[in-house]
Amino acid sequence: MGEFELIRRYFAAAACARVAPPVSLGIGDDCALLQPLAGEQLAVSTDTLVEGVHFPFDANPFLLGQRALGVSASDLAAMGATPVGFTLALTLPTASETWLQALAQGLQQMASACRMSLIGGDTTRGPLSMTLTVFGSVPAGQALLRSRARVGQCLCIGSTLGEAAAALPWVLGQRAEDAVSEPLLARYWSPRPQFELGLALRERGAAALDVSDGLLADCGHIARASSVALVIEAERVPLSEALRAAAGEQAFSLALSGGDDYCLAFTLDEADVQLLQRRGHGIQRIGRVEPGQGVRVVDAAGVALELPRHGYQHFGAD
Ligand code: ADP
Ligand code: MG
Repeated sequence: MGEFELIRRYFAAAACARVAPPVSLGIGDDCALLQPLAGEQLAVSTDTLVEGVHFPFDANPFLLGQRALGVSASDLAAMGATPVGFTLALTLPTASETWLQALAQGLQQMASACRMSLIGGDTTRGPLSMTLTVFGSVPAGQALLRSRARVGQCLCIGSTLGEAAAALPWVLGQRAEDAVSEPLLARYWSPRPQFELGLALRERGAAALDVSDGLLADCGHIARASSVALVIEAERVPLSEALRAAAGEQAFSLALSGGDDYCLAFTLDEADVQLLQRRGHGIQRIGRVEPGQGVRVVDAAGVALELPRHGYQHFGAD
């Protein structure tokens, strides 16, 4: 199977390759064409996933397709953007038909859950990696910038944290799958971008991001961009049953520093927190925005806890 037949069969002919406005032209020409509505800005983000770094060797291709798009699309949710489309730059050592079929099905599954179209890409031979660029649309001036946190706001999260990090021993095949691992593996392999929450946060003066490198590290980005301090109240950090069952005493530190959560962390006025909770958004208030800088975690008495500060970094801080 040549490159063009491969593109046609697994990508151009996929259901998710059908396009609708604001995509005017999808796969097949030198570029896709997007036509944002008047008054909208285009939100664009790229993520690369490399075998052996972002996912294990010999990963299930269906799950890989799902995860690659979920991880990438989560950045759109974190900006409050409505998902539109994505491109896929795929580098493969060999063109196995069963592998490609499963990858395409995983992408299709997530693309349909996210309502995004595959609008282009590139296909090359080499060590397995995937680069996805996602495109979304947001009313001009309403994107959820990291720089918008204000003193007095609440710090909140959009779901429990730590489950994906707790899944790692199973992801890496170090433990046999069991009842404990099932919900954790679902969080790892099938991240659910929080689009509805992102939309609800627009117009409310929220600062937001999606937690990918661990809550502590990512809160540091909001604190820096907004020139404020974020205070996490330890007893408010929710620990799911699944996380406790898998991680025991490590549950709290995984929730704070684990990474791969792909849920939103954001700051919001207290009245808006209550409004969103009344509307059924499963958000949790876990802290507050104060004058100052950096992130600290405090116990019920307000005393700062000593915790590891840094999330995952490819080129180390040292
Ligand atoms: P070019 O040589 O002009 O860059 P290609 O031959 O690489 O174009 O690709 C032909 C068409 O197929 C383009 O529209 C491109 O966006 C699309 N395409 C290539 N690879 C993929 C892929 N993995 N997924 C989706 N679309 C792809
Ligand atoms: Mg070209």
